[in-house]
Amino acid sequence: MLLDNKVAIITGAGSGFGKATSLLFSKEGAKIVAVDYNLDAVQSTVDEINESGKKAIAVKADVSDPDQVKNFVKVAVDTYGQIDILFNNAGVYVPGNIEQTDISDWKKAIDVNFNSVFYGVKFAMPYLKKTKGSIISTASAGGIIGFPDAVSYGATKGGIISLTRAIAVDYAKEGVRANAICPGTGKTGMTEELLKDPKIKEGFLAPISMKRLGEPSDVANAALFLASDLSSYITGHALPVDGGWTMS
Ligand code: ADP
Repeated sequence: MLLDNKVAIITGAGSGFGKATSLLFSKEGAKIVAVDYNLDAVQSTVDEINESGKKAIAVKADVSDPDQVKNFVKVAVDTYGQIDILFNNAGVYVPGNIEQTDISDWKKAIDVNFNSVFYGVKFAMPYLKKTKGSIISTASAGGIIGFPDAVSYGATKGGIISLTRAIAVDYAKEGVRANAICPGTGKTGMTEELLKDPKIKEGFLAPISMKRLGEPSDVANAALFLASDLSSYITGHALPVDGGWTMS
């Protein structure tokens, strides 16, 4: 197994990419600290893992609150004694160009999508240094290209890519790696409502070279590669998982 005896914190583990990654990492031998502010959702992820005889715990936390982030890092260490993998994945989609985005929505996107990554890495770093761990953060194709009509989403995701590179170069000597995944449009809770409208779905599909939307498993498989020793010489990378969208 690729993650035998590793301990992984995964945020946004109640749905979409985070849920798929929690299930896959546990199949590969990792103990999972599954974090989400939706306790019912994250508990169901954890129940599914524990039913198969693997180990996981659920923690309710809002990743935009530094005290709650500090707490789930502590819970991980208290429960499993170490942290090998930190997957900063929880996020929100905030639509709107700059005129349509009010200041409170802008600040919310920065808090949930971007500041949360800073908090997670800051509090987990002392433990990641001990294990020569791997940090993975969910950015977006929207953080690479000029993303239309979602200025705060695109900006926060671009910020994650820069933050990832800075962490990667600062901690490479210590053996800690940091990479970002840049999903295109995926079939997750974030897009569920929008995809019911065939016109919107068509619009999402149009720029994707492979002409299919992403599955949660597409991101989970990329995260597994970045979490495992298979990627031991890769750090500071922003990996598009987007069916060729950003390459077209
Ligand atoms: P995606 O997988 O595309 O990111 P989803 O909406 O399916 O989209 O999953 C996002 C997950 O992140 C949800 O389970 C949601 O409850 C969680 N989440 C969103 N905001 C926060 C937050 N501030 N703190 C913790 N979890 C959050």
